[in-house]
Amino acid sequence: MTINRRRFLYYSSVALGGSVCLGLPMCFAGNPLVAAGPDDIRGRVLRGDAPKRRWKWSREALHYRRLEDDRTQCLICPNRCTLSPGDRSVCRSKVNLEGTLYTLAYGNPCAVHNDPVEKKPLYHFRPQTKVFSLATTGCNFRCLNCQNWEISQARPEDVRFFELFPAEAVDAAAARGSVAIAYTYSEAITYYEYMRDTARLARARGLQNLLISNGYINREALEDLCDVLDGANINLKAFSDGIYRKLNGGTLQPVLETFKTLHRRGVHFEITTLVVPGYVDDDAMTRAMCDWILDKLGPDHPLHFTRFVPRYKLNRLPPTPVSTLERCREIALKAGLHYVYVGNVPLHAANHTYCHQCGRRVVERLGYHIPGYHLEDGACKFCGTAIPGRWDA
Ligand code: SF4
Repeated sequence: MTINRRRFLYYSSVALGGSVCLGLPMCFAGNPLVAAGPDDIRGRVLRGDAPKRRWKWSREALHYRRLEDDRTQCLICPNRCTLSPGDRSVCRSKVNLEGTLYTLAYGNPCAVHNDPVEKKPLYHFRPQTKVFSLATTGCNFRCLNCQNWEISQARPEDVRFFELFPAEAVDAAAARGSVAIAYTYSEAITYYEYMRDTARLARARGLQNLLISNGYINREALEDLCDVLDGANINLKAFSDGIYRKLNGGTLQPVLETFKTLHRRGVHFEITTLVVPGYVDDDAMTRAMCDWILDKLGPDHPLHFTRFVPRYKLNRLPPTPVSTLERCREIALKAGLHYVYVGNVPLHAANHTYCHQCGRRVVERLGYHIPGYHLEDGACKFCGTAIPGRWDA
């Protein structure tokens, strides 16, 4: 590949963390997307967009109610889509056909991989194991920076997919030696029925279940899911309702409720915040977020500050400077959180796990590999302090 001047400048800024370019400080002020976008980008119901009839990969939805005039209301997430016959939901996975709500995303994943658990990211859950990861299309958010927009913003019938009904998905996971099934990539809440049925079968076969999600789910649906959930990584996109509306097309409070429910139910979970320059890099906001986590959830849920790279509608923003991620981590540690990571920065010292008591490195990471592991029965080998997590690899 030939590298022209423009490409050279781009790769330089990526390689150097967006903080310096050709020896000059890179300034980032007045991003027009931050200033000029609409204040609320929440998705809308698609009127009259439903297919004429069900297909093989449809099931009647869970958690919905019937309303007058054959309308239905989905109760799974705070969007609470109210659909008339022939309408399609905000997440594009659900349709009202003659007064019954159906999912069109059941047994038709468009992405299937056997991933290292570290990729989710889950750093305190059975390190160096493989998790069978799947996704159908669909999302209840509209993130400007979506990394998987080709599938998250598509309709189930618009993409190529595998046929993998719940029992087949569990068989495939077991055959590949996966310890768990991860519902991931797009937004698992929007293929809730497929996830829940697969998770129940997986549990019966001795496999575990991991939810990788934006956490935008109503409490009843989440409680139901918690019965078969072993771990989760939930995005906390920002600690500001305004930014949730502007950047993600959602709201903050339901996500905070999700954290409280998972905590109360004893599900292992980790938190990921993607530090988007100009949106999610404000120190006061980071401080308020960490104080809330400490107060409501305690110090032990791992927190990942991950690096933004240009994507989708924010492809003109620079990557997050590494120094910004380090500052976020410092704020979190100062607030009293015990396990704080920097993500999407290979070889960074904050990829490792340090015992919060003696400060020694107890899990060393090199990408998705674990070259050093210094825990015994889930406790630091050096000082005996218990490290929270599921360490039964
Ligand atoms: S899960 Fe989908 S259909 Fe249900 S309320 Fe949320 S966006 Fe609407």
